Amino acid sequence: MPVSEAVKKRAPALPPPRVTYHRLRKTIHFACFLAFLAVPFFDVMRFDIPRQRFYFAGYELWINEFAIIFFALMFLMFLIIGSSIIYGRMYCGYMCPQMIFSEASITLQDRLNRWIKKRFFDWPVPRRNLAARILFLAALAPASVFLAFAFISYFVPPRDLFVRLLALDLHTAGGLAGAAVTLITFLDFTFVRQRFCTTVCPYGYLQGILGDKKTLLITYGDESHQCIECKKCVRVCHMGIDIRKSPLQIECVHCGECIDACVEVLGKLGRKGLIRYTWGEHDAKSMWDAKRVIVILILLFYGCGLFIALGMRRAVLVQIAPVRATLYRLDAGRVFNRFRFSIANRGHDRSAVVFSLRQLPAATLAIAHNPVPVEAGQTAQGEFEISRPVAASTDEVEHFTIVASPVGGGPADSFPMTFLSPPQRSSP
Ligand code: SF4
Ligand code: SF4
Repeated sequence: MPVSEAVKKRAPALPPPRVTYHRLRKTIHFACFLAFLAVPFFDVMRFDIPRQRFYFAGYELWINEFAIIFFALMFLMFLIIGSSIIYGRMYCGYMCPQMIFSEASITLQDRLNRWIKKRFFDWPVPRRNLAARILFLAALAPASVFLAFAFISYFVPPRDLFVRLLALDLHTAGGLAGAAVTLITFLDFTFVRQRFCTTVCPYGYLQGILGDKKTLLITYGDESHQCIECKKCVRVCHMGIDIRKSPLQIECVHCGECIDACVEVLGKLGRKGLIRYTWGEHDAKSMWDAKRVIVILILLFYGCGLFIALGMRRAVLVQIAPVRATLYRLDAGRVFNRFRFSIANRGHDRSAVVFSLRQLPAATLAIAHNPVPVEAGQTAQGEFEISRPVAASTDEVEHFTIVASPVGGGPADSFPMTFLSPPQRSSP
């Protein structure tokens, strides 16, 4: 039906949709913004470079806790791969901090422009534009400091960072990094914004590789020529594209703003929107196939591995090794063997470990302090000697166990060791 005829016979307007993608996205944006701030502050995830620690899900992991770090990184990698194959660039449109803050800066700028225009309507246009620009930059400057602070908190403890910020530290590497990130953030949200997504963002390129014929897309379909060429879908698109040309444009971040725009415009004419989410270009009935099942299974595998590795983790890690530079020492009728220990306290509280011996009769353990105290986050290292009367030795090599038990409970560690004695001389 020609457009003019359609407008004359206007059907009753459709009720406005209860949920719009715009509102949904803004709610998710707000939740992601809170999560972005909370993650480093509550130790959900942070690479603490000065202390060489990796914080994950509230655990303080030491860089040598390779298994947990490996499972965590593999889990995150397959999470990104899986979500890209299935949902395309939805992460970009709904959760990416670059998108969230770019849109927020555009909204702030628009509102300031409107406010200045309304409040100072009698000013010449250039003066109004200049005032709006100055106001926008003045608001963006403290916001950039705040965002840079939140970002660097992923690598430096927030408390240390706050002290550096108050001292206006521009001498240490941390202070200079903070100033540089603040400047980059300011320039990014002033000039770059979503251009970043279509030029240098590696995730956008990755998506081009991972997407397939069933990946979620935004598609335009108008078999019955309902489009009234209002171009509202083009005007609302922050990425500056016309989705009607193709659903496969790399710039599209699947935000759904064009869906809302079309639903709103055509809804007033009693028609349905022409743009929608589909599984692939040809709207597959189901998104599932063997590739997706395998990726989800791998994700589950690494998720379970991570869960088990975290469950098996001990706050206090004890290591013991014999010192064999001298095999044994003889003194006052006793044989001495020397051992080296290391106790790493990876917990949040002070701890202590007590050493004891098993399966070595008449032996004594000589150590400066037993239990050995270890402060939270510290490593205690030292040596001790085990001795026994020469006459008690029955063999040159005897097997026994050193037990390291945390004071105040917790599982003990057992270390199988050997005790060396002088060769036994048989009587003639
Ligand atoms: S908003 Fe809908 S009706 Fe308007 S130009 Fe876009 S697709 Fe056509
Ligand atoms: S085309 Fe639509 S879904 Fe894609 S980025 Fe633009 S507004 Fe968002």
